[in-house]
Amino acid sequence: MDLINDSHKPQQARSEPCPGTLYIVGTPIGNLGDLSPRAKSVLKKVSLIACEDTRRSGQLLKTIESKVPLLSYHKNNFKSRQSQLLEILERKGSIALISDAGLPGINDPGEELVHAARSNNYEVICIPGPCAATTALVISGLPSQRFCFEGFLPKKQSLRKKRLEDISKEDRTTVIYESPHRLINLLEELSNVCGKERLIQISRELTKRHEESIGNTIEEVIKYFNLHKPKGEFTLILGGKKKKQEKKTSESEALNKLNRLINQGEKANEAARKIAEETGYKKNWLYSKLHEKLDK
Ligand code: SAM
Repeated sequence: MDLINDSHKPQQARSEPCPGTLYIVGTPIGNLGDLSPRAKSVLKKVSLIACEDTRRSGQLLKTIESKVPLLSYHKNNFKSRQSQLLEILERKGSIALISDAGLPGINDPGEELVHAARSNNYEVICIPGPCAATTALVISGLPSQRFCFEGFLPKKQSLRKKRLEDISKEDRTTVIYESPHRLINLLEELSNVCGKERLIQISRELTKRHEESIGNTIEEVIKYFNLHKPKGEFTLILGGKKKKQEKKTSESEALNKLNRLINQGEKANEAARKIAEETGYKKNWLYSKLHEKLDK
């Protein structure tokens, strides 16, 4: 009996590269062993490789003995390079686009070239490879059925504040990229908008020798990185905001919970926030009830 459904049988690969085709090729995010045999083959046979940094990619290509010419394609020259690259496709050449690491188009140049190639009816094919966002997500232990990707947050204060507020209300898991020297500042900002108990996993140096993942709450990871200076590359996986529960808890039960927390030493404001999250009652309502009690 044939146990493998036809659609799951390994397919006979078509001969690559095809003329007039743009290949978006994933390269390792640290571990050279993650460069796939298909990626190696295409990177040795295309007419041209467009890459962010010719010196950096040159080192990777040397390891696979690719002699294909390189052309720089980065955020400062992508507009001027576009017509040159489309002309190669027009002449039935094939192009591989790679970034410094990972999947082009994910916080790396690529999107515009793919759009231009598609608009001019050239074929675009992805040779999948590692991506820090999905690699960190699937090992986070946080829900991965539905998630959002934010990449790097904007630096401009007004945009950043709005983005942080949106992220704090998001009920799906959110993926964020950050550099080591801004990590603690971002964690403090997230703590302010999401609360220090929001779940988080931070993956550092994925696929490399010093890979590690640190969690479980924002409070815990801030403590950790205050003791261990952040070094290397970081991807943050932030748990989503928990949906408010139906108000199954009675008003008096909710107020009892609030008083218990305060008697245990929690600040009134923080206690009201926690009980609001747990019971679905509004934080301000709980807080006002505390004052009513004090006024009596
Ligand atoms: N296109 C890439 C991808 O598919 O992963 C992302 C490029 S983006 C410019 C670079 C950021 O990705 C880093 O600053 C870091 O936040 C994240 N990153 C890349 N490699 C990583 C790694 N090995 N471990 C953790 N995060 C990584």
